[in-house]
Amino acid sequence: MARQFDAIIIGTGQAGPPLAKRFSAAGMSVAVIERNKFGGTCVNTGCIPTKTLIASAYAAHVARRGSEYGFLTDRNLRVDMKRVKARKDEVAGHSNKAVEQTLRQLANCTVVEGHAQFQSSRSVMVNNEILESDRIFINVGGRAAVPPLAGIREVPFLTNSSMMDVDFLPEHLVIIGGSYVGLEFAQMYRRFGSEVTIVERGSRLIAREDEDVSEAVREILEEEGIQIRLNAKCISLRKRNRHIAVGLECDQDPTETLGTHILLAVGRTPNTNDLGLERAGIATDQRGYIIVDDMLQTNVPGIWALGDCNGRGAFTHTAYNDYEIVADNLLNGTQRRVSDRIQTYALFVDPPLGRCGMTDVEVRNYGRAALAAKYPMRNVTRAVEKAETQGFIKIAVDAETKQILGAAILGTGGDEVIHILLDVMYAKAPYTTVQRAMHIHPTVAEFLPVVLAKLEPFV
Ligand SMILES: Cc1cc2nc3c(=O)[nH]c(=O)nc-3n(C[C@H](O)[C@H](O)[C@H](O)COP(=O)(O)OP(=O)(O)OC[C@H]3O[C@@H](n4cnc5c(N)ncnc54)[C@H](O)[C@@H]3O)c2cc1C
Repeated sequence: MARQFDAIIIGTGQAGPPLAKRFSAAGMSVAVIERNKFGGTCVNTGCIPTKTLIASAYAAHVARRGSEYGFLTDRNLRVDMKRVKARKDEVAGHSNKAVEQTLRQLANCTVVEGHAQFQSSRSVMVNNEILESDRIFINVGGRAAVPPLAGIREVPFLTNSSMMDVDFLPEHLVIIGGSYVGLEFAQMYRRFGSEVTIVERGSRLIAREDEDVSEAVREILEEEGIQIRLNAKCISLRKRNRHIAVGLECDQDPTETLGTHILLAVGRTPNTNDLGLERAGIATDQRGYIIVDDMLQTNVPGIWALGDCNGRGAFTHTAYNDYEIVADNLLNGTQRRVSDRIQTYALFVDPPLGRCGMTDVEVRNYGRAALAAKYPMRNVTRAVEKAETQGFIKIAVDAETKQILGAAILGTGGDEVIHILLDVMYAKAPYTTVQRAMHIHPTVAEFLPVVLAKLEPFV
């Protein structure tokens, strides 16, 4: 006998649990299925543990700079990696337990631990049991991609998941991939005390960002002693005694870099290959992402896909926003759409990069007159006081409507300050609103009007 539910949710990432809560509150019966750790990537192997580790790395970094601030520390400051990991485990473990407990205590909610697979467009098999519903929500997330690099099967390598078990200091960590995940781990481990080399196939780091942002981040990382090898067109891996040799080119006299540990940070793969999607007739794109419309419905009526697995976002806040869109549309009769949201995210290197809206390339292709301004953090009083003056603020606006088009704040507090511009963008208010507001001194935010006063035609 199949068990019937008003809704089935597969996966407990960032969208599934709040959706279950809303359904439960609306009196619906809901089954939530999880095959691994409650809370998914962000809680267990992504945002929360990495930002906790980054906080430890930042503390070590500031301690090493003690003399700049007027105190003395032991020059040979060493990081106790077992304690760093224990702190991370405690913080992430707390969230993991909270997600599980919340789900288990929900009225009308059945929690099933196991691997879910579609049997049809209305049924899912888990632990040899069939669950049925007219509404199924897929929130299965993704995992670290493992590309078919030459030699990949012959050497041990780490991913963001296995990095969570590391409680020792790698002597030389070679990170393959110079994008968001790779850069955060690079600076973190350099600050813990490892030698770190980043190997990137492209001609610059974080290639989706503007060139000046990539360049400034590269300088920040290099200043801390991180080695960066760009244009690694043909990456190969080979064991060499207790090291791993990472080949960077395929020609006859290949250059290489030697490390003791390899971290693969070359993108994500959606967890959709073992979900039985074909039995439900659910369409995916060539990379395995579930195709959804603007309201996150798949091609099969009654089935939605939320979070990383739909390819419409790769962040916790996009997954959570997916939940808000689906829940409001189903329970409140709204017509919320993915296309209503403004692109925003942060890169949590130190200083952080906060981003919202268009990049320079997008502003250039925008087809309307724009104004832009750029301002160095070394002129921001708060940054000077904190001795954290790296980076810049840049903002672009529409010359006629005065609405903000996009911004990048690479600098202390950039991950927080960016929200001022983001909220003004959502309000569709002109940038002059930010200029008129009185801000708190001394903050980075108080300089936004100063930056906006420097707007000039975008070139
Ligand atoms: C190292 C790292 C750092 C990150 N840092 C940030 C950050 O600072 N800020 C940010 O916004 N984002 C960050 N992200 C991205 C963020 O973690 C993800 O975007 C977010 O977790 C996506 O959530 P999700 O709901 O799509 O799925 P996930 O969190 O991936 O959860 C999916 C869940 O589904 C389960 N599942 C999969 N298949 C099945 C199945 N067949 N049956 C049952 N259960 C299944 C999985 O076990 C998992 O628990 C980071 C990611 C990484 C890797």
